[in-house]
Amino acid sequence: MLLFTPGPTPVPQNVRNAMSDETMHHRTPEFEAIFEQTRSHLFKLFKTDEVIMLASSGTGAMEAAVINLCHNTLLSINSGKFGERFGKIALAHGLKNVEIKNEWDTPASVEAVVDALKANPEIDAIAIQISESAGGLRHSVEEIAAAAKEINPQIMIIADGITAVGVEPIDVNNIDALLAGSQKALMLPPGLSLLGLSNAAIKKIGAGKGYYLNLASEIKKQKQNTTAYTAATTLTIGLLEVLETIEADGGVDALYRRTQTRAEAVTAALQALDLHIYPTRPAPSMTTIDDADASAIRKILKEDFDVNVAGGQDHLKGKIFRINQMGLINDYEMAWVVNAVELALAKIGRRVYDGTANRIFNEITFKMGK
Ligand SMILES: *Cc1c(COP(=O)(O)O)cnc(C)c1O
Repeated sequence: MLLFTPGPTPVPQNVRNAMSDETMHHRTPEFEAIFEQTRSHLFKLFKTDEVIMLASSGTGAMEAAVINLCHNTLLSINSGKFGERFGKIALAHGLKNVEIKNEWDTPASVEAVVDALKANPEIDAIAIQISESAGGLRHSVEEIAAAAKEINPQIMIIADGITAVGVEPIDVNNIDALLAGSQKALMLPPGLSLLGLSNAAIKKIGAGKGYYLNLASEIKKQKQNTTAYTAATTLTIGLLEVLETIEADGGVDALYRRTQTRAEAVTAALQALDLHIYPTRPAPSMTTIDDADASAIRKILKEDFDVNVAGGQDHLKGKIFRINQMGLINDYEMAWVVNAVELALAKIGRRVYDGTANRIFNEITFKMGK
């Protein structure tokens, strides 16, 4: 079965091998050396002043960022399930929340954020997804962050890059916390989350908030290549292997270029089948199709063609399907996925199969016929 959900993503064989050794003790010079190497790779990936690893799923990093960087009112951008989660986290911690809510295909506008900031001077942090995985859209995070800092230079920008870090270049100039999670673009099993932090964020964190998710304790320890509590040792070893593999494969910029080409090729191939791209501004992390036959297509993909793609949640259940584009994906696997979608459409009588999807995908991927 080909796993083509936008998280979890498949773990490469060499990474699984690297994680198969006996469990290492975390308070040892051996593990500290691995931690140090991993950190130095992470600085190149995040391009932020500090990077922290937490033993948690991605939501742990979201909660850590909100409680440590928002002390009054959080402005959260809800264009999907993950944006909605930021507001819920703020309220769960007794913080105030202002929300900008859109349909799941619509990114937040810079103007809406500027208006909200002017109307609510108590907002001291903004939380937004770079790539909102619920509908596969790309928010204009860099523009929003720049506009927000112009109004209030002290404001903290929390950018959830869980389906963006390792997928596309991100301008971190105005970003104070950049979040990532192991089971998406980083091609690992779930259980590790990461936070890139700006110096301004570190200053605001001060003595930190919370206990397990207190970022001050982690910053202090991780600068010394250890963690405040037991590290996710096996996942850290896997992460180092992933980052070394990316490096050996031409580095992150090459990975971003390949992901972008893949996104373009899949999009064009599916559009040539008369399928409709759901978000008005798609992220390169995934292709999201809205279609009346979404459920039937997903079922055929899985049962007849061994391809597992994701559906939709909440009001989009049965209305969309989402195909992953993150990670080190073999072209021959992606080619099979778009071909399988065409086969599924033929099977439900929507079109006569003629190999269109594969032809378009190959032309763009291998720069042929263009
Ligand atoms: C997956 C995901 C998360 C975090 O989810 P976890 O299940 O806690 O790992 C957060 N934001 C986005 C955009 C995601 O795709």
